Amino acid sequence: MSKPCIITVAITGSLPTKKDNPAVPITIAEQVESTQAAFEAGATLAHCHVRNDDGTPTSSPERFGQLVEGLKKHCPGMIVQVSTGGRSGAGRERGGMLSLKPDMASLSTGSVNFPTRVYENSPDLVEWLASEMLTYHVKPEIEAFDLSMIFKAAEMGKAGKIAGPLHVQFVMGVKNAMPVDRATFEYYITTLKRLAPDATWTGAGIGRDQLTLNEWSLELGGHCRTGLEDNVRWDKTKLAPSNAALVKRVADLCGKYGRRAATVEEARALLSLPKAA
Ligand code: MG
Repeated sequence: MSKPCIITVAITGSLPTKKDNPAVPITIAEQVESTQAAFEAGATLAHCHVRNDDGTPTSSPERFGQLVEGLKKHCPGMIVQVSTGGRSGAGRERGGMLSLKPDMASLSTGSVNFPTRVYENSPDLVEWLASEMLTYHVKPEIEAFDLSMIFKAAEMGKAGKIAGPLHVQFVMGVKNAMPVDRATFEYYITTLKRLAPDATWTGAGIGRDQLTLNEWSLELGGHCRTGLEDNVRWDKTKLAPSNAALVKRVADLCGKYGRRAATVEEARALLSLPKAA
């Protein structure tokens, strides 16, 4: 039987603008509409950031609340994951929405260079975000930008600071961080399996190698992430038409590797999340 693949759609992020691609959803209404189309195309996990109406990133819990409510209504059962990333706020502001109890939240377990700045995740902040996630029963997705972050996550899992089983996303292709490299990708998988045998994982390729990571993840038994946050282009010659089109491309690719897009029930079971209400 083919192994289901959880397709994550990262709908907007905090950087791309309408100038980069008019399909980037900014307002809550646009985000809900774009996510619903992606859900209908096969995405079962939405990775969410919120913006002000002028497009600037924010970590406003009110804004997150509106988005989570809209997604619950229009995408029944879809796993909602909020970003605690560093472009939308500083320090503990980044976790202010966790009390809304979304299904999941991103958690980077270390610092790394980004294209023009340091993505700073101090030990104190990592511990605090993880403890908030435990308090509110929010499952973290570990955003691993390098190998040390995988070790840190496994250590926190063993110490009970992260509720298991771990779910880790291997991120490649961010300028100044880990490039897209097949040998390293395979080593990430081997290392994660060694440290946390029951862990699940997703591959995320940023920029032009989005599709490369989709293919590697399908081939090696992981889950996939796509969406306009990571890449606004379809290929060298044109822009991606929508989040839904990027999701459909991954869903269509599944069969080539003996995989298929997971249903919401399967995605929740694979990530040990409660069944949809
Ligand atoms: Mg993000």
